[in-house]
Amino acid sequence: MFNKQTIRDFPSLRGKRVLIRVDFNVPLKDGRVADDTRIRAALPTITYALEQGASVVLMSHLGRPKGVDPAQSLRPVAERLQALLGREVLFAEDCVGAAAEARSRALQPGQVLLLENVRFHKEEEKNDPEFARQLAAHGDVYVNDAFGSAHRAHASVEAVAHFLPAAAGFLMEKEIRFLSKVFTEAERPLVVILGGAKISDKLPVINNLLPLADRLLVGGGMANTFLKAQGYELGDSLVENDVIDQARELLLSSSGKIMLPVDAVVADAFSNDANTQVVTVGQVKPGWRIMDIGPHTVTLFEGALRGAKMVVWNGPMGVFEFPKFAEGTNAIARALADSGAISIVGGGDSAAAIEQSGLADRITHISTGGGASLEFLEGKTLPGVAVLPDK
Ligand code: ADP
Ligand code: MG
Repeated sequence: MFNKQTIRDFPSLRGKRVLIRVDFNVPLKDGRVADDTRIRAALPTITYALEQGASVVLMSHLGRPKGVDPAQSLRPVAERLQALLGREVLFAEDCVGAAAEARSRALQPGQVLLLENVRFHKEEEKNDPEFARQLAAHGDVYVNDAFGSAHRAHASVEAVAHFLPAAAGFLMEKEIRFLSKVFTEAERPLVVILGGAKISDKLPVINNLLPLADRLLVGGGMANTFLKAQGYELGDSLVENDVIDQARELLLSSSGKIMLPVDAVVADAFSNDANTQVVTVGQVKPGWRIMDIGPHTVTLFEGALRGAKMVVWNGPMGVFEFPKFAEGTNAIARALADSGAISIVGGGDSAAAIEQSGLADRITHISTGGGASLEFLEGKTLPGVAVLPDK
């Protein structure tokens, strides 16, 4: 369910300056954009505004600069965006101030201006109203299309929306439409797959999704703490001792919905060159550690995915960054693609793992927002969404 005003709801954009918060927080390498997924994801909103006869002012953060840092400039993004849009993209060396404001006021319909990294000013992360007012001076209306930043109450995300007529962009709309399906339009059986490194990071997600799910498949490092709670010795595996009790309580209260690994790929070092073995979860020797789910677990999880109507996945099944330990994650990605279920993937590493598996185009929705998608699945209100007016 999505009930916010969108860019379509503005009466007319002709001759207007549309200030769009985008998520251009992309990886850079040697001064160039290394992955332009997030830039491409913002194109529909930008193109729409231009087609409606508006000019467009874009703002974003990049990285975590402490003050002005040329290595975290958005200039390389302007170049890539220009190539993707096929039209000139102007660049303002500061996101606020008289010079930048003169640039945005001089824009003609069809022109695009990208502002420099909003995090070059410390006021951005403070959600400072005066800074937000200066950002708002660049537009006649404000559009938030930065789902990946919506969980942050920062000036370009939250405070700015108080100064202008505001609405969501198409990416924001799409993300929330898909991610909210699990809460408002769940199709059953609904299977939730959780993995990743730490269970402590994911306890809020488990607590929120477990009651909704018909089954919860747990893999990755976080499964270890559940296994430990069942009394297994896991050698040097990643275990979070301080949440073992919580893991035990979850198992007891989950009425058998939680499926845990029965076997694992173990290694004698945290390395792609380590020696490996496949063992049952009861056979992890001292000095060895669990790095991936094993083949019997894959079969078990595949069985649970067959016939699923909706699947939500967060967290890889193993240390997928090492090819040796990516097999479990890849197999589950394949099973998900083959299941025919509505498949929704959230989490930064999970999205990267699906891309790496080559199956991304067979997944219904892969969120562009790592932390934001996680907080949404936790059931938290995202400040950047809450501030937008309802329909
Ligand atoms: P996401 O970003 O999708 O929310 P997380 O950040 O929670 O996912 O988890 C991803 C990380 O979990 C990866 O870096 C991966 O190497 C790690 N991981 C998965 N399985 C294990 C394991 N068995 N032991 C240690 N780390 C693991
Ligand atoms: Mg992560």
